[in-house]
Amino acid sequence: MTTKKAKTELVQITASPIPPWHQSTEFTTSCPVFYVESVIKGNKMPGGMESARGNEVHRTAAAITAYCALKKVPMDLIAFDNLSKGAGPVAAKILSGMRESFSVDWQHLVATELPMSLDENFQPTDVVEAIDGICTDSGKPAHYSGVLDALYGFRDELRAGITDYKSHPRPFDPAETLQAKTYTVFVLAHFPWVQTVTFTLTFVRYKNLTRSVTYTRQDLPMLIDAIKSNRERQISIHVDYDAGKEMQAVAGGHCIYCPMLANATCPIAAWNPAMQLTPEQRLNFNLFYSQFSKANNKAMKEHVQETGRDIRLTDFNGKAYTYGPVPSESEVYPLFKATADGVETDGNRLVMPVVDLLSDYAYAAPEDSAWLGKIQISSTSIKSYLKTKRRAVLDLACDDVVEKVTKVKLAVSRPLETLPDEVTDEDEEEEF
Ligand code: SF4
Repeated sequence: MTTKKAKTELVQITASPIPPWHQSTEFTTSCPVFYVESVIKGNKMPGGMESARGNEVHRTAAAITAYCALKKVPMDLIAFDNLSKGAGPVAAKILSGMRESFSVDWQHLVATELPMSLDENFQPTDVVEAIDGICTDSGKPAHYSGVLDALYGFRDELRAGITDYKSHPRPFDPAETLQAKTYTVFVLAHFPWVQTVTFTLTFVRYKNLTRSVTYTRQDLPMLIDAIKSNRERQISIHVDYDAGKEMQAVAGGHCIYCPMLANATCPIAAWNPAMQLTPEQRLNFNLFYSQFSKANNKAMKEHVQETGRDIRLTDFNGKAYTYGPVPSESEVYPLFKATADGVETDGNRLVMPVVDLLSDYAYAAPEDSAWLGKIQISSTSIKSYLKTKRRAVLDLACDDVVEKVTKVKLAVSRPLETLPDEVTDEDEEEEF
């Protein structure tokens, strides 16, 4: 279903002004009706996406980063606490989580909260004072704009790093965002000496949880193509709207921020999955479904186990399904070489076949050895052997070298006696 420009608006003789592309544009253009409502007509949800830039988490992170650069220290907890004062409940909670792990590479910091813009031809424009003189300002209207939370420069390595703070509950990959591509192009356009840019999302709710993507100057054509295509989509929505064309509604994750979801005026309300159930009804359904699914799976398992036969079904479309044992094979790489009564040794040293191969490769190709630092033994694998009285000392020693990795999944809580306090202040707003 589509929605049309109101009749009274057809007399409009000027084109709707097209704002520069901003990181939220990728989100709002997902549904032309949403874009028209929130950007062209300006009916944004109160405290919506754009307000995030001003939230306390971003402000505090930028302020402490700038402070540390000024004082030439990686962190100052007293300053952190002072700069965090007055934050709302959600921000305070996030900031207290950030406090212990936040560290600033002050030697390489170029600027914080740095606005950057490019014109239609991807040339720097509206160049701000903080980086004035490093590139030519085209003086043309901005077509792409954004604010970098923190920019780092590594001149010797011809490399730059961008840090963007996110308070999303669930981490995501920056390679899937246009923000990473656009901000990389901002830096490549403003700093001609930069050959490589690493864009890092820092998920401030969690300790040491970051996701990065690296692009080089060779990627520039691909990056520009990706950004241009979203800009063209934005422009085409304006052109269609100005021409009085019917605008299409497209449902998706973006609906949650759409004012037409909130006031139930979405033109595809009857079909939009986001409008069929409330979040509470969905959680209720989830609880029912997981209980039902457990009982159902148990009954099916018992049937297969007792009868020794698969359960078989052909649906009304003629597709066949079975439930029964499905063998699968997984591959593991043993750390040591097992013998009948121990592990193989080579002189004074235990034989480690895979490690030896990897070591040989690292010495032969040192320029391609960084990934070796990311290979790990899973804690489940090693802990199952260390958790015995006899190996308690070894277990403690291993604890000294263990690295904590934060992973996040969205999950239903265990049954709670009372609901935890709900915090709904504006710090909860996200930036897209
Ligand atoms: S609620 Fe409707 S109008 Fe709003 S973004 Fe979703 S589909 Fe588009």
